[in-house]
Amino acid sequence: MRPFDYFEPATLPEAVSLLERFDGRASILAGGTDLLVEIKERIRLPDHVINIKKVPGLDYLSYDPVDGLKIGSLATLHEVETSPVVIEKYAGLYQAARELGSIQVRNRATVAGNICRASPSADTLPPLIADNATIHTFGPDGERSIPMEKFFTGPGKTVLLDGEILTRINVPSPPPNTGKVYLKLGRRAAMELATVGVAVTLTLDGNECRSVRIVLGAVAPTPMRATDAEDILIGKAISENAIEEASQAAKDQCRPISDVRGSADYRREMVRVLTGRALRMSIEAANEGNSPFDISTDQTVD
Ligand SMILES: Cc1cc2nc3c(=O)[nH]c(=O)nc-3n(C[C@H](O)[C@H](O)[C@H](O)COP(=O)(O)OP(=O)(O)OC[C@H]3O[C@@H](n4cnc5c(N)ncnc54)[C@H](O)[C@@H]3O)c2cc1C
Repeated sequence: MRPFDYFEPATLPEAVSLLERFDGRASILAGGTDLLVEIKERIRLPDHVINIKKVPGLDYLSYDPVDGLKIGSLATLHEVETSPVVIEKYAGLYQAARELGSIQVRNRATVAGNICRASPSADTLPPLIADNATIHTFGPDGERSIPMEKFFTGPGKTVLLDGEILTRINVPSPPPNTGKVYLKLGRRAAMELATVGVAVTLTLDGNECRSVRIVLGAVAPTPMRATDAEDILIGKAISENAIEEASQAAKDQCRPISDVRGSADYRREMVRVLTGRALRMSIEAANEGNSPFDISTDQTVD
């Protein structure tokens, strides 16, 4: 591994001033499950690594009905997947967290790191965007908040400015009669990156679709909303025809590439299948007020 200088700032301003001082030659370290792999494989060669784990006040997961869910930048995937409030109210995020990597990875990996790595196949991105999450940052010019769907500009690229650190993710409280689903298709059941990921957050008003956000992962350079599919459903009565039409629209709108995990054609077809499945599951969950997933599994064993 190429040598680097290592820092453990005690405050956020100290971390930001180190980033400013090293001007693009430093990397933030949180769980390290992406960064250390990239350094070992010489994909990234920072001269300076700034570990933010000693910065107090970033490791929390809290909820209240007005402000919704707040995920501090040091909260791990394991904390998310075992949080009763996430299980109850954020089923898509819960499902994404429990399917990410292995239990060892989830014990270290942070949601913030998953977001800042900005991989098109990252699992927490589709459900958080479907839930209309907001990213909060702190940098040389103070604080900013950014709608998460505007955060990604390309594979590995975000709107984070030089010296900026992601401090918190805010996810609104869901209205009644909301169903949420994240479906991940991989070549095997565990320790696998998504070939396609589909997240749906849908709210019903009787049999009418009051709102829906459909977000696709691994089928474009960034996670993308299937807005054509959403438009087919919003304000209309739920019907099997509408679900089929929306699923086809999601297939037509996505822009996948062919790679080792699947061809572009296969991915497109899987977007159609998974969008239909996720819509049906979220409608059922919205009707019944239940999580669409089996949450009885003991999450301490993997
Ligand atoms: C074996 C293995 C399996 C995996 N499987 C999956 C999988 O199935 N699905 C999936 O989505 N991912 C997977 N990953 C990727 C990885 O675990 C996640 O992306 C993880 O959430 C990254 O979080 P971290 O805290 O470890 O980030 P780090 O590695 O510490 O950082 C990741 C990047 O984000 C930056 N960063 C971190 N925190 C901040 C912050 N607060 N502000 C600004 N920049 C920041 C870092 O500088 C770095 O560029 C896997 C990784 C491994 C090693």
